[in-house]
Amino acid sequence: SSIQLQDLVQLGKIGSGNSGTVIKALHVPDSKIVAKKVIPVENNNHLVVNQLVRELTIMKSVHPHENIVSFYGAYYTQSGSNEIVILMEYMNCGSLDKILSVYGRYCQRRQNLREEPWFNGLVISKISYAVLNGLSYLYEKYKIIHRDIKPSNVLINSRGQVKICDFGVSKKLINSIADTFVGTSTYMSPERIQGNVYSTKGDVWSLGLMIIELVTGEFPLGGRNDTANGILDLLQRIVNEPSPRLPSGGGYNFSREMIDFVNRCCVKDETERSSINELLCHDFIGKYRTKDKEFRHWCKKVKFCLKEDKQIRREDNERAKLEKK
Ligand code: ATP
Ligand code: MG
Repeated sequence: SSIQLQDLVQLGKIGSGNSGTVIKALHVPDSKIVAKKVIPVENNNHLVVNQLVRELTIMKSVHPHENIVSFYGAYYTQSGSNEIVILMEYMNCGSLDKILSVYGRYCQRRQNLREEPWFNGLVISKISYAVLNGLSYLYEKYKIIHRDIKPSNVLINSRGQVKICDFGVSKKLINSIADTFVGTSTYMSPERIQGNVYSTKGDVWSLGLMIIELVTGEFPLGGRNDTANGILDLLQRIVNEPSPRLPSGGGYNFSREMIDFVNRCCVKDETERSSINELLCHDFIGKYRTKDKEFRHWCKKVKFCLKEDKQIRREDNERAKLEKK
């Protein structure tokens, strides 16, 4: 039941990250849409690459789960350019970072900042539950630690499902030392930065930071700066400064349960930090347990806004092109 690469028709680029590009593709034999991640590799390292593909294939043995993006296969192609191709389930509302930036533009266009924010208590609770439930499954069943929880690795679809992707079976191979200094390895917990033993609690820290970013629109701990110095500086702040917190005042009005939940994730000393299973039992998760319909409704609204955003941006682009002429 493996997918053949030649049976895919590319439909367009979805996005790109540090390692490669993600493309929307149609699997013609069964008319199924898939996401195709293409990672270019230098052609001198076949041994490493084959090892990497072998490791990635282990992900195929992870059984489908409602909070894990399904994995369809990993390939190494040597025709023309050398690349690793990873096929996975396509999530039609995209990642949380994308939804966050679409929300930003949506507010700007409507100049309507008084409207209820997208990432309210219900939504954050449902996302947190999904992330924790996925993490718990990966660890309890396969002893896999995700290691890269951040908004771009949490995906949503209009059926109201939230799934995590890009868990690091092969992080050691993918991330050369250089890679750890570009982009957003800044969701790393203090113990990981300091090189201590890394447990599933590192992912709990990342979840806490992600929640703060989603509700404030900004990465906590003084923002991001993609120069090597900027990142070293940030890593130092994560270790030395007090734990990040949800803002109080400033027009925000978070529930008692949500504040407590985030406070339990963002504890610098990992022995004091709550575990995945403790957080799954937290009141903030329980509070919205019966609200699946409301969350599905939210996902549909997001899908609609994504479509609108794409359309407007396309028109803006075309107008800009015409003006240039
Ligand atoms: P980094 O390289 O730092 O991990 P990233 O997670 O954004 O960053 P990629 O994993 O290459 O990089 O993903 C690029 C973008 O493609 C993501 O931000 C997300 O919006 C989108 N994307 C990834 N996988 C899927 C998927 N299965 N379905 C829909 N969109 C996806
Ligand atoms: Mg990713």
